[in-house]
Amino acid sequence: MEHTSLYFDVVIVGAGPAGSTCALALKNADLKVALLDKTSFPRDKICGDAIPTRVVKVLNRIDQKYVEALRKFELAVSVKSTRVVAPSGKSFTVHWKNEAFNCKRTDFDHLLFNWAKTETSTAIFENTPVLSVTNNNDCIHLHTPGNTFIAPIVIACDGAHSILAKKLNNFTVDKEKYSGAVRAYPNGVIGNTHHLNEIFFSKNLMPGYFWLFPVSESCSNVGLGMLSATIASKKINLKKSLANVVAEFPELTNRFSKVGVQFTVDGFGLTMSDGKTSLSGNQFLLCGDAGSLIDPLSGDGIGNAMVSAWHAAEHVKKFFTKNIFTKEINIQYDNAVYKELGKELKRNYRIMKICSKNPWLIEALIHFFSSENFLSTYLKKKLNKYI
Ligand SMILES: Cc1cc2nc3c(=O)[nH]c(=O)nc-3n(C[C@H](O)[C@H](O)[C@H](O)COP(=O)(O)OP(=O)(O)OC[C@H]3O[C@@H](n4cnc5c(N)ncnc54)[C@H](O)[C@@H]3O)c2cc1C
Repeated sequence: MEHTSLYFDVVIVGAGPAGSTCALALKNADLKVALLDKTSFPRDKICGDAIPTRVVKVLNRIDQKYVEALRKFELAVSVKSTRVVAPSGKSFTVHWKNEAFNCKRTDFDHLLFNWAKTETSTAIFENTPVLSVTNNNDCIHLHTPGNTFIAPIVIACDGAHSILAKKLNNFTVDKEKYSGAVRAYPNGVIGNTHHLNEIFFSKNLMPGYFWLFPVSESCSNVGLGMLSATIASKKINLKKSLANVVAEFPELTNRFSKVGVQFTVDGFGLTMSDGKTSLSGNQFLLCGDAGSLIDPLSGDGIGNAMVSAWHAAEHVKKFFTKNIFTKEINIQYDNAVYKELGKELKRNYRIMKICSKNPWLIEALIHFFSSENFLSTYLKKKLNKYI
């Protein structure tokens, strides 16, 4: 096959929530934009499928009609509350003020991707993996099997295993800021209550947690995630542990009695944020998991991916007329992202570190919140703003 050089104003690599959002946010920028993905859509992404409220916030910034469309999307389930269960079985429930959903990522990412494809003039290239990258100071060359894509600014949205973060930003896995997680889709979990997400802390896996999120009337997203440093030090096999957690809680054993534990389990990594990791350099910006922007406490990454992608689009619109995307200019993108997310990410990173070293705190906190006293009721009301 002939190898061709293709020139664009902006190339976005990866069409997950970050990449598709960035293309949507560049809709009226009058720029020649390319969006590449190594796979074709719809495609699966291993995830808890909890679509956080921040997603609604970003879609609103782009165009309110996307929020309306998400509300009407028949494959999304609205979520109103989260129940948190301690190893002892004690639990409390928080009722969320803001809108959130559960939706299989196959469907949610396809929805966003279709908006980028049909509502913008972005040139879409599916089945186009970036295999290697060269930074030529004033532009970046992205080598794919058929073509070389060349642009003065590249937006890396290629996820937790980002080739661009490795090649352009020297990303390496730090086990203190990286989690492993597994996910399965059992049908027939008893009490698969609509509008309620549930989180169970297992005594053997603290501070990792097991989640049970309904994605339809019959199907649940079930998973288990924990810090890679803990997985390595305790030599934990997450896939096997998923079944062990079901056996540990009598409530879960009962609720999974019609399912059994023989379902397919898949795993993937989470690049978590400490609120200060570099997000840019000469001619490139990193968004979402490629920029390690996952919340280290909740594991939510979709909303932060979309926030960063929106800021990336704003940055490109602001500086494209000058066509200067040096490291010194691009640092303004880092500043904008951390102005919005930095305080929360730094705080949650600190809490996650404290809980990792003192897992007993989690049981104590759940006990405190499960008791109906004035202070716990007041704090739960404060908490409900934060999802
Ligand atoms: C088990 C698990 C559970 C999670 N649960 C939740 C949850 O419930 N809620 C939540 O908010 N977050 C959750 N997360 C985090 C969330 O999945 C990510 O933060 C989110 O997917 C980030 O979006 P993204 O667009 O940055 O990357 P991705 O969604 O990973 O998209 C990256 C895209 O880049 C493409 N790509 C990769 N490499 C290349 C290449 N070389 N060339 C071209 N294309 C490429 C991929 O095909 C993919 O489409 C979870 C993560 C895991 C692993």
